[in-house]
Amino acid sequence: MNIVKLGMTELEISEIGFGGIPIMPLSKNEAVSVIKYCFDLGITFFDTANMYTTSEEKIGTALKTVREKVVIATKTSQRGAKEAAAHIDLSLQQLKTDWIDIYQLHNISNEEALQEILAPHGAYEAVSKARDAGKIRFIGFSSHSIQTAMEALKTGLFQTLQFPFNFIENDPENELFPFACQNDVGVIGMKPLGGGLLERADLCFRFLQQHPHVVPIPGIRAIKEVDEIIGLYRDPKPLTEADIKDIDSIRSALGEKFCHRCEYCLPCEQGVQIPSVLIFRPAVKRLSRESVTGWLGKAMESVAECIECGECEEKCPYNLPITGLLKENLALYKEYA
Ligand code: SF4
Ligand code: SF4
Repeated sequence: MNIVKLGMTELEISEIGFGGIPIMPLSKNEAVSVIKYCFDLGITFFDTANMYTTSEEKIGTALKTVREKVVIATKTSQRGAKEAAAHIDLSLQQLKTDWIDIYQLHNISNEEALQEILAPHGAYEAVSKARDAGKIRFIGFSSHSIQTAMEALKTGLFQTLQFPFNFIENDPENELFPFACQNDVGVIGMKPLGGGLLERADLCFRFLQQHPHVVPIPGIRAIKEVDEIIGLYRDPKPLTEADIKDIDSIRSALGEKFCHRCEYCLPCEQGVQIPSVLIFRPAVKRLSRESVTGWLGKAMESVAECIECGECEEKCPYNLPITGLLKENLALYKEYA
């Protein structure tokens, strides 16, 4: 496994990291085995979040004896200083560590969220104080909106950026990632497998290997998945013409249905939680029934409020047929729940 430097943080990490969502439904013992296996095979970068239920606790348990040899990143969705400070302390406790290497403000995907965290008594204030106190080392953020992520980077306040990146969601290559790299911001690629929608791991990782400035963090929940991914990194191959044709056909098949979670369609006056509803299908593939219904149940129920006004479809930059997709996902939820 190659070791790379993460932008200006100078943190040295494995060229792929570990995404902490899919271990949520595993038992503690199963999760700890998977995480330890990843470490044994050379993965030294672990990303999680306060909101991923038991993920921090499991990562903390698995890595406590090798803490100095790994880099741990976590996140808070809180926007206020007091609440974010409480989350930092909770994460330290759950991760069983005295410091967090990268603390990220989660899902800064619209102007309002950015202004909220940067305002006096906003979350950035708490994170900055925690850095001064030695509880965290570097400050980052995650986002699904190129425009908001650009604004956040321009503040110069963040050392890392976490953004979706895969062969379907490749827009960040145009402006966002080059800007981040010019400013020596470390780039972490979330959803390298399209959040579970892309099944061809070989194509996904061959595509990503063409972008070595991005450190992907695939969500991993089984040892066989680790073996597959590590195998693709031990024996990297360039994309062939046949691969490119396959990518093109997957892009055109999914293009009309793939929600980029950019949230431009929000707010919906009726309170329909559109992006959360549209991730139901891939979430079903990755998580247990209990986790997925607990996590997305309220969002799925909100579809009943849709009056088909069409405003969301006018705002969606990808021209998704949102009202039809809401119905499709709701039907799947009813079958599944
Ligand atoms: S439906 Fe469209 S606008 Fe809404 S989050 Fe998905 S891609 Fe973005
Ligand atoms: S079509 Fe439905 S989901 Fe879209 S904005 Fe109107 S009420 Fe909301």
